[in-house]
Amino acid sequence: MISTKILSIIIIAVLVEITVVSTSFYFGGLIIELEEKEILDKYSNNIILIVENIENQINSTIKVIDVTRELPQVKNTEYSDFISETLKGIPGDLDIEKRLVAKQILETYPDFEFITFHIPNGDFYIMEPYSDQLNVTRLNFADRDWYKGVLETQDTYVSEVYNSTTLKRNVVAIRTPVFDDGGNFIGIWGGSLKLQFMADAIRDINLAENSMITFYDQYGKMILSTEENMSQDFPSEIITKAIAGEKDIIITENPKMLVAYGPIKVGQVNWAIIATQPHADAFLSTTITKNLMIFMIVVIGIVLGAASYFMFSLTKKNLTLLEQLNKASIDKDEFSAMITHELKTPLVPIIGYTKMLTKKDMIGNLNAEQLNAVDTISRNAKRLEKLINDIMDARKLDMKKLKFVFATLSLDEFLSNIQSSYKDILTEQEIQFSVNNSSNNITIKTDEGRLRQVFNNLINNAIKFVPEGNGTIEIGAKKDGSVITFYVKDNGIGIPINKQKNIFKKFYQVDTSDRRASEGTGLGLAISKGIIENLGGKIWVESDGKTGTTFYFTVL
Ligand code: ADP
Repeated sequence: MISTKILSIIIIAVLVEITVVSTSFYFGGLIIELEEKEILDKYSNNIILIVENIENQINSTIKVIDVTRELPQVKNTEYSDFISETLKGIPGDLDIEKRLVAKQILETYPDFEFITFHIPNGDFYIMEPYSDQLNVTRLNFADRDWYKGVLETQDTYVSEVYNSTTLKRNVVAIRTPVFDDGGNFIGIWGGSLKLQFMADAIRDINLAENSMITFYDQYGKMILSTEENMSQDFPSEIITKAIAGEKDIIITENPKMLVAYGPIKVGQVNWAIIATQPHADAFLSTTITKNLMIFMIVVIGIVLGAASYFMFSLTKKNLTLLEQLNKASIDKDEFSAMITHELKTPLVPIIGYTKMLTKKDMIGNLNAEQLNAVDTISRNAKRLEKLINDIMDARKLDMKKLKFVFATLSLDEFLSNIQSSYKDILTEQEIQFSVNNSSNNITIKTDEGRLRQVFNNLINNAIKFVPEGNGTIEIGAKKDGSVITFYVKDNGIGIPINKQKNIFKKFYQVDTSDRRASEGTGLGLAISKGIIENLGGKIWVESDGKTGTTFYFTVL
């Protein structure tokens, strides 16, 4: 039985531990998931900001080229006869109006490296600043992709990234076809952008730790990278996807990286932006949270484990103690049952034979002295029998094993039976005994034998304490509403008020000097109280401590 208890405690402890640990894991997982999502969102938001910034800048420069091509100063090539191979276009002092427009664009949009006008065959017409025009290495640029793009689309074209022959650095060209008022294609107007604005767009954003951002043009050629030694070998399918207009944020394995990619819309084409961050850097905070949670869960596990172990050993100890106590109690019960039985059994022949001995002519006659001796034996044997019975009843009451048999009882009959059984003996002892029954024709459901036991206890106590010669004992029952109150009243020596609270305790005896040595066990009132309570009532005493005592008790 104990091992089942221990087993259930172990199972409960393990279940609690599993529940707590798995719940912690579940919620920990949720928190980490949320944290990861937040990281990804923040990362892609940063990329979106960079893309928007670049798109805004480049599209505003496209716009300025588009708008200025409609200016009359731009829509002409009147000095094309002056194009010189050595000057790589017309002389600096010709077509001042067109040069002025170019200068104004350069002033307003410092991202432009230079502004140019080419005639339809790809030859330079002008370039601003003029000093750069003089440094150009060749006259014709019909091989450039922007030249081909403009001719093909007849619209503004953003070129691939190329190394400016003049400035020896990467630029992108924005070129637009120019038509005269008659709609004839007369040249290509535009400028080349320094890529600094892209670097600035990245710098404006507070980039995550160890992040790398790389831009690719519409042909997949790298435009710019935050990593100086960035090689071209970034997974080409991602570049292709971004150029095709797809965007996503993914985690790659080998190396484990966070990769965000997407398109940058520049005129009619898309560039690609690819941002990467080592996974460990990107998810540093979640790793910390993860480790912290694992640590906490382990701590919780250990604490719970220790607590369970502690509880387990404590319970085991208590259960062992309980087992020992149970055993001791069973032993004690067996012992007292045995003792009471073994003590009672010899009393039966003793009491029986003393009865026979006192009966005249039964087993021979005794003289007066012998009769007196036998009477003493008989009285003491009966006392002993009463003591054993009381001990047995008190124990049964304690163990809630005293049996009660409820049946209908007529109070008139019950009280008159008591009266007749005490009448002779009390008359003999010169005690006036009266029964006051104001409960005419009342019947109750109770255990008659036990109720009688209470009356006997109380009457026998009263007999002990009434004054010799003029003792009076009155018993009775009165009905108050639905409650019937019984009483046993005597004119004895009373019970001191300060002792009254203890008289219903087991083995308690009031011990006063004027109290004659009375035979008793100190169990009678305790048993009476136990019986009355089992019958659903209560018992109490009233006495001024001098002029008699009245015990009251009710039953259900
Ligand atoms: P006992 O077997 O000693 O009479 P009880 O439990 O019946 O034990 O009574 C407890 C104590 O209460 C007794 O010692 C006795 O002194 C006191 N007592 C009980 N009934 C009366 C009474 N009617 N008058 C005075 N004292 C009483």
